[in-house]
Amino acid sequence: MTLHADYDPDNIFAKILRGDMPSVKVYEDEIALAFMDVFPQSEGHTLVVPKHVQARNFLDMPTLKLGAYMERVQTVARAVEKAMTPDGVVVTQFNGAPAGQTVFHLHFHIIPRWKDKGLAGHAAGQMADMGELQAIADKIRAKLG
Ligand code: AMP
Repeated sequence: MTLHADYDPDNIFAKILRGDMPSVKVYEDEIALAFMDVFPQSEGHTLVVPKHVQARNFLDMPTLKLGAYMERVQTVARAVEKAMTPDGVVVTQFNGAPAGQTVFHLHFHIIPRWKDKGLAGHAAGQMADMGELQAIADKIRAKLG
């Protein structure tokens, strides 16, 4: 059901892309927008969202637009790695609610991991402090190639 359904143009990320909702931006061009996850699973948790597509998930994404989008995912992942110097980086996405998806516009998560630190829950817990997210976003933006 949630895996294959009509695209809802009023999902949260569509609103962020339209500028109808705020976000703490890291990267933006004509292909993609990257911004900080407001319920970060680790410090530096960043989302990369494709623009100008009505793709609920990876399976819906027009194949011809995938390459350019994935280049942005890698650009942002590299900047996150340089800025946060983690021990590892998770780059992932979920398709359909049973798989863990909660926002139905395609996005990749970039989640830094440290050997000695656990992960916060997915899309859960307390909303992050906006000032702290802005400071992290500034650090990541400074490392964009
Ligand atoms: P998913 O569950 O894979 O669809 O991921 C959605 C992600 O969006 C979760 O990690 C949420 O914490 C995050 N999220 C929800 N609302 C917002 C928002 N307004 N701004 C930034 N991130 C959000």
